Amino acid sequence: MAGDNPDHNRRQPGLIAALLELCFPPSCLLCRTGLPAFGEAQLCPDCRTKIRLIAPPLCRCCGTEFLGAGENHLCGPCLASPPYFERARSVFRYGDESGRLLHAFKYGGKTAGRRTFAALARESGVLAELTEPELILPVPLHPRRLRARGFNQALVLARFLMPERRERIRPDLLRRSRWTEPQTSLSGQARRRNLTGAFALGDPTLVRGRRILLVDDVFTTGTTLNECAKALRQAGAAQVEALTLARVNTDLQAKG
Ligand SMILES: [Zn+2]
Ligand SMILES: [Zn+2]
Repeated sequence: MAGDNPDHNRRQPGLIAALLELCFPPSCLLCRTGLPAFGEAQLCPDCRTKIRLIAPPLCRCCGTEFLGAGENHLCGPCLASPPYFERARSVFRYGDESGRLLHAFKYGGKTAGRRTFAALARESGVLAELTEPELILPVPLHPRRLRARGFNQALVLARFLMPERRERIRPDLLRRSRWTEPQTSLSGQARRRNLTGAFALGDPTLVRGRRILLVDDVFTTGTTLNECAKALRQAGAAQVEALTLARVNTDLQAKG
């Protein structure tokens, strides 16, 4: 059997990659400029500079970037009203270019940009800032929205950002308990009202005492992640952290 020959197995990935490059020469995902070879992130040097990785100083809790230099510290909103999650971190800023990559991933099919996102996440070192999770929970979609889109982008993200922790990814634990309006059409307070009590746990005993990592595509106001974290903490989760690919830029002025 071919699979029994280790040399044969080793050659396979290289051969497939070479054939793919011959049939589909690599090009930048954003501007289509030809690239010399399939690299880690499929972006030309010019477009890569337009994707801005999140960098300190950050809010120790919600991960909001502060302008200027300084140490990480708590932002005003987190001081005034601490979120239910311990820490939220993101890979890059939501901007024109990163927004186009995300849109292609979300609506153009689940494979577009996957390797590029994983490469950017490795480069950002974001996973090292989070506690090793016992359970990884993608933010769920309502079944109606899941049927319309065909896949949950948060689950796909969790799988390719953390392939070696795949067995800890549990899309079945957290559920949307009711239909909600798309958050993008609402302002801050309306977002919170819209999502209050929108998430529930099928079996709360499964999260009791556990360290949990929530995964979603974009952090905008943090309302969705906070509502998920609230349901988890109320069910007895020991700690909840959150990882998103993108973050809408809400720079705060650094203190001191
Ligand atoms: Zn480009
Ligand atoms: Zn904060």
